[in-house]
Amino acid sequence: MQAMVLTETRKPLQKINAVDPCPGRGEVLVRVEACAVCRTDLHVADGDLPDPKLPLIPGHEIVGRVVGVGPESARFAIGDRVGIPWLGWTCGKCRYCTAGQENLCDDALFTGYTRNGGYAEWTVADERYCVPIPDWYSSAEAAPLLCAGLIGFRSLMKTGTARRIGIYGFGAAADLVTQIAIHQGREIYAFTRVGDSGGQDFARSLGARWAGSSNSVAPVELDAAIIFAPAGDLVPRALGAVRKGGVVVCGGIHMSDIPQFPYRLLWGERTVCSVANLTRKDAEDFMAIAPRVPVRAHIETFQLTDANDALDRLRSGRLKGTAVLLMP
Ligand SMILES: [Zn+2]
Ligand SMILES: [Zn+2]
Repeated sequence: MQAMVLTETRKPLQKINAVDPCPGRGEVLVRVEACAVCRTDLHVADGDLPDPKLPLIPGHEIVGRVVGVGPESARFAIGDRVGIPWLGWTCGKCRYCTAGQENLCDDALFTGYTRNGGYAEWTVADERYCVPIPDWYSSAEAAPLLCAGLIGFRSLMKTGTARRIGIYGFGAAADLVTQIAIHQGREIYAFTRVGDSGGQDFARSLGARWAGSSNSVAPVELDAAIIFAPAGDLVPRALGAVRKGGVVVCGGIHMSDIPQFPYRLLWGERTVCSVANLTRKDAEDFMAIAPRVPVRAHIETFQLTDANDALDRLRSGRLKGTAVLLMP
């Protein structure tokens, strides 16, 4: 099979021809149809995240068809279409796994980080962590839902019943979460990079009540804020924009240092929390709601062998939607 492989961080991926993987116990062999490119892939490739498995096939927003099953694999039939997200395996025994917080398992394995991912024609996955993909979506359209969609959804759930929500950083996750939030009758206030009028127009086109630069003052007091941009200085800014009792959710896996800020910004029972990974239940809940909204990802497609180009364009902000690799 063809695959794009990270052999060393801060170096471009290399195209290789490898032996097709073989499904082990409880695993499925999947012919990959599409794999979206996530900012986390950049953090892995750039060495921002510690200890990736090397060499590594990145990619954790995989949609494909089951073409083989390993011993004792019974969940899917040949031909079923599945999604393979970031959470690839958990121990099932620790205090987190047994309390509905498998996203926090210390021994978890992550697709495209500590397990091989989907920048390849074939991949294997533990069948328990795959999610069926609704027929409503093509594989390319469904791929970005598997991370940007799921993380956005989990971030939105962390805001509880907040009605007026500020979103800082208007990329793929913000796009998808805005669609769900508006469907649920909430109001979205979009904060983009200073001067990013294109991003602000995009947010308004999705139905945001207001869009402006991240250094501007919100037009209303917010009930909650979600930060998707990896910029720590947004935390005190967002705290300053939410009302008493409000929550600021940090939705990214990596963020620059949070600067010192006065206690009064946190006072009034405001909360700051992060979203780490996702659970299988998040995936199931999201896939149930997504076609009803319907949540639509804006995508830009690339050939598998153009993965480096897709990553470069994501790094420099030159994508119009989520990059999705299509397999030959
Ligand atoms: Zn565990
Ligand atoms: Zn991701």
